[in-house]
Amino acid sequence: MSPGGGLNEHERSLYSRQIRLPGVGESGQLRLKAAKVLIVGAGGLGSPAALYLAAAGVGTIGVADPDKVELTNLHRQILHGFDTLGLPKTVSAAEALSELNPGLILPLHPDGLTAGNAMDLVPRYDLVLDGADNFATRFLASDAAVLAGRPLVHGSVLRSEGQVISLVPGAGCYRCLYPVMPDASQVPTCSEAGVLGAVCGIVGSWMASEAVSLLLGARKASRVLQIDAERGLCRPLALQRDDRCPCCGNTPSIRSISPETYRPVCASPPSSMPDHPLEISVKEAAAALAAPTPPVLIDVREPDEHAICRIPGARLIPMGQVPARLAEIPRDAVVLVHCHHGGRSLRVTQFLRAKGFASVSNVKGGIDAWSREIDAAVPRY
Ligand SMILES: [Zn+2]
Repeated sequence: MSPGGGLNEHERSLYSRQIRLPGVGESGQLRLKAAKVLIVGAGGLGSPAALYLAAAGVGTIGVADPDKVELTNLHRQILHGFDTLGLPKTVSAAEALSELNPGLILPLHPDGLTAGNAMDLVPRYDLVLDGADNFATRFLASDAAVLAGRPLVHGSVLRSEGQVISLVPGAGCYRCLYPVMPDASQVPTCSEAGVLGAVCGIVGSWMASEAVSLLLGARKASRVLQIDAERGLCRPLALQRDDRCPCCGNTPSIRSISPETYRPVCASPPSSMPDHPLEISVKEAAAALAAPTPPVLIDVREPDEHAICRIPGARLIPMGQVPARLAEIPRDAVVLVHCHHGGRSLRVTQFLRAKGFASVSNVKGGIDAWSREIDAAVPRY
């Protein structure tokens, strides 16, 4: 900063294309320079997000990640390269980020975000950007952000679909969407399901864009962005605070960070839902639907997709309407959920399980697989 407190000539030139944006200006650029962002997870999402925030002139970027750079990271974690293989990701990230902004202040947190340090770290920052690869850290980051009154941008990605959740303090939190941490053994990870590096780039860039809007004070409401790279879609959905939320509701049960709350839930026996796996194939779905007591089939696509093709008997409840239409989904029946390719319906399945629907399974591959393997009369799109 120049002695007068404004931008110096070098900074004015460096950020000139951004300063001319109506929502930024010199005051906005100064606001970004004064801002402190905590990046939780310097991986596939944290990499692009941190690079864009550094390039945008955010003055302080803290990096929390306990891992070291591995070969399998490099196709998507673009903060890191062959020259930093084996180094802590915090160190590797700091090298890359300081190249973009030599004046950047880079506090490194090589223990990652933990239940032990969350309430020390989070209040030191103005915003938390969560690109963690596990539910325990996601819930921890959200709860700590709520308790510290900080905005949070969350991102996640699976296969070719992603989700960005921007949370304004007092206007909803991660637990308003997912009240209970899912069993880790029931949720496929990127290492199992696969992920395209460029999709991480899309989602991470959205996260950076949302973070800049929040830092500039341009965002007053929380929202969810559902990104489908294969279909070329991004749907914004409003997120409302849930009065019954255990963290930000009217009578919250989470009032402090307790380590027991964030132990990864993977010890429960996989036989707890033997008849209702998280995902089933279209062949298994077809057999179940032909049985004397068929399951309830829910289609979570959009009406324009439903107009193109549908599986007979399926009830249409578009993904964005599911939270408001839970009463239409029976709790005492087996429920199958499908979408176009199986990504959105997997998220709905996880959401419904978190809401206490135990007998819910996702139809893997969606109606596209149904068309290819079960009924060729169903048009593909
Ligand atoms: Zn909440």
